[in-house]
Amino acid sequence: MTKTSRISWSIVALLLLGFMLQEPLAGQGRVTSPEQFFGFRMGADRKIARWDKLVEYYLLVEKQAGGKVKVVDMGPTEMDNPFLLVIVTSPANQKNLEQLRQNNLKLSDPRGLTEAEARKIAAAGKPMVCMTMSMHASEIGGAQMAPELVYDLVTRQDEDTRRILDNVVFLLVPSFNPDGQIMVTDWYNKYLGTEYEGGDLPWLYNKYVGHDNNRDALTMNMKESRYVGRLLFTEWKPQAYFDFHHMGSYGARIFFPPYAEPIRPLADPLVWTESAMYGGQMANAAAEAGLSGVMNNGQYSGWGHFGFHWITPFHNIAGMLTESASARVATPLYIDPSQLTGRSRNQQNPREEQMNFPDPWPGGWWTLRGIVERQKVGAWALLDGMARNAETIVWNTYLKATRQTERGARGKPAAYAISATQHDRLAAFELVNALLDQGIEVMRSAKGFSTPGGVAYPPGSFYVTLAQPKMGLVRYLLGETHYPENEWTRRQDGTPIWPYDMGQDVLAEFMGIAVDPLDEAIDADFAKVSPIVPAGTVTKGPAGYVIDGRLNDAFKAVNLLFDRDVPVRRADAPAGGLRPGDFLVGPDAPGDVLAGIARDTGVDFAPLKAEPKAAHALTRLRVGMYQRYGGGNMDEGWTRWIFEQFAFRFTSVRDAEIKKGNLDASFDVLVFPDDSTATITGEPPAAGEAGRRGWYREPRYEAVPDTTPPEYRSGIGAEGVAAVKEFVRKGGTLVTLGDATDFAISKLGLPVRNAVEGLGPKEFFCPGSTLRVRIDTSHPLAYGMPAEGLVLFHYSPAFDVVATDFNDRNDIVVRYADRNVERSGWLNGEKYIAGKTAMASVGYGQGRVVLIGFRTQNRAQTLGTYKFLFNALVTPPARAREQG
Ligand SMILES: [Zn+2]
Repeated sequence: MTKTSRISWSIVALLLLGFMLQEPLAGQGRVTSPEQFFGFRMGADRKIARWDKLVEYYLLVEKQAGGKVKVVDMGPTEMDNPFLLVIVTSPANQKNLEQLRQNNLKLSDPRGLTEAEARKIAAAGKPMVCMTMSMHASEIGGAQMAPELVYDLVTRQDEDTRRILDNVVFLLVPSFNPDGQIMVTDWYNKYLGTEYEGGDLPWLYNKYVGHDNNRDALTMNMKESRYVGRLLFTEWKPQAYFDFHHMGSYGARIFFPPYAEPIRPLADPLVWTESAMYGGQMANAAAEAGLSGVMNNGQYSGWGHFGFHWITPFHNIAGMLTESASARVATPLYIDPSQLTGRSRNQQNPREEQMNFPDPWPGGWWTLRGIVERQKVGAWALLDGMARNAETIVWNTYLKATRQTERGARGKPAAYAISATQHDRLAAFELVNALLDQGIEVMRSAKGFSTPGGVAYPPGSFYVTLAQPKMGLVRYLLGETHYPENEWTRRQDGTPIWPYDMGQDVLAEFMGIAVDPLDEAIDADFAKVSPIVPAGTVTKGPAGYVIDGRLNDAFKAVNLLFDRDVPVRRADAPAGGLRPGDFLVGPDAPGDVLAGIARDTGVDFAPLKAEPKAAHALTRLRVGMYQRYGGGNMDEGWTRWIFEQFAFRFTSVRDAEIKKGNLDASFDVLVFPDDSTATITGEPPAAGEAGRRGWYREPRYEAVPDTTPPEYRSGIGAEGVAAVKEFVRKGGTLVTLGDATDFAISKLGLPVRNAVEGLGPKEFFCPGSTLRVRIDTSHPLAYGMPAEGLVLFHYSPAFDVVATDFNDRNDIVVRYADRNVERSGWLNGEKYIAGKTAMASVGYGQGRVVLIGFRTQNRAQTLGTYKFLFNALVTPPARAREQG
């Protein structure tokens, strides 16, 4: 059909409809199709609709769709693009939206309602579903599919469509990552038609966190995460959530729910059975449409990281994921049938029929259109399934919430207590605020409270009951958690099967906050807590002021003081209530500046009564952080974000600047975030390097020809290594995090050995676990830390510092405990790590190398260990040696 004839047909249809319904024509006009608007069919080869045009399209459809579409601008993204929510439902529901939302909120936390009241509310309720598109921006299918889905919903006149619009409120996030959508589109178009067409973006597709935006559901540090978190966890609480992704190219064509084993226990069974029901409907609809290569109940385990689609089940939402096989962005990928060899959980062979994969894809050209079609069928099946079962699904909201609350009330622990007395009291507020962001109810007692066993909690302590709808989430964020050990988590020969990311998600442990499980519920004068914004105080003493060095935020305060040229010193010995690491400010410091900083950071400027016995003047060190291409380094992005939050001044340093040498002219401290040696240097991986971590990664084949344009090929090379050596030898501090410690050890020839190098997973295996450590708090790199603590270990290295004639130059700052090393997660092979070094400072020439093997600032969540990194940014090498 030509464009002209379609338009005229639409006008005729519109006129007829207008006359028949005797409704005003305003708002009932022709709806522009995506193909008309964008000039190509969604998913057409080598075509991508860019975010600015997508926004325009949704705004246009809102005007044209006769009240079925409402576009909400939720606010700016990290890079100032609009973040949209597109609500699609019948005009009647749109008018009644606020009431429907309120009904939903009541049913999702029905404490205090009688069953009869709940039934009345449910009878007036409508199920809601949230779908989010292309949070991983290189996984472009979802954002391209969504306009067509919306167009179909507002233009199709059949009974199915009417049922969906009448019965379901569809909350569409048409791009979870608009910034990345723009970057990926522009990159793709820039190299279209060249030898680099379809290659990867060389930097992160989110200003800070790249692919890890999925791991941000726990603390929601990014703006985009906050918008979606609000939608899911507190403001709408839809019954179902569906997140659109892509996966590797050589297995199934698309994965639909439910997840495979192992399950993560403690959710209400209905979230899993609903997922299975929807997933069955999706697979069925795809089979009806003759779309092959659909797998469900495979590959993605029910126990995964607490990303959005995996945390939602513990919000009583049927949280689901779909993953499509990737093409080369919008460029078709040819696959010979013999190349379909991608095996995964519960999929043996993508060329053979299986119960959860009854129609293998035959191979050939794999296209973006193939992705769009399958995704659209899945999305539609979910809407259709909800529409047909609307009453049941709404009532299940009440069932899930009530049953989880009762389960929490019956079980042990009954609650958690968070004492107002904490090592870092401001970090404790951050934990409480993070719980509130999840929609968890937190109580506080102004007078304090006691347990029946006689444990007293001081005034201002917090209390979190398990007798609330999100009890499972409370358990996982606050309580010791151990990854399951069963047939689903080990192969027959005993080899552990790697979990999807971490072994646990105990936020309290990441943040270094002491949280006590209470066997029995306590009745005290509790009041519900709202978000805490602490404001610090300023009180002058005879010798000036002291800032508690145990607070992470003390570093922010110090950096803000540096900004205003206020001198700061640091105590080096305990005396008169001072602890090593406390920051000192003289009595002449301007009071208004201190007041402003106290207000902004929450830290107190407390009275300093007398001059300390030992203290040193702090100077602001010049910090550089290595930033590479190769898709960017998420750990670098998170670290950059943390530095900004804590007002550290720093410079991102690329390969070219490192290779140039003379680094000491610009920097005192160089930070290398978690990365492999080969990635840092750009050399091919050494034979042994894949040993420790490589086994659980997919084998990668270098693309021939390389689709990375030469100017974006990364690596500091031999010149860069020489420059880094020279920098440290002349007095610089090299801070290496995680795997980057191997770069320092191997390239600088440090007398340090990775104690877990070369051990196979049957011997040693430790994914995302919190481990017990002992800390030398007299060392400046550990100032402000407790003597015993927890660190996050994620396939990390651990060290033996080898004996040499110069042992006095090398300091062991943090060691793993000698026994009972695991606090939470999954530690297989404790003997290999017990007592080993977790963090060391190693002298090299006039400078020093700081090796932090564990994830000291992981995803901006491990607040409990930030200070190891921060100390390294403010401590000059000479001081570390003297003090060590
Ligand atoms: Zn993804």
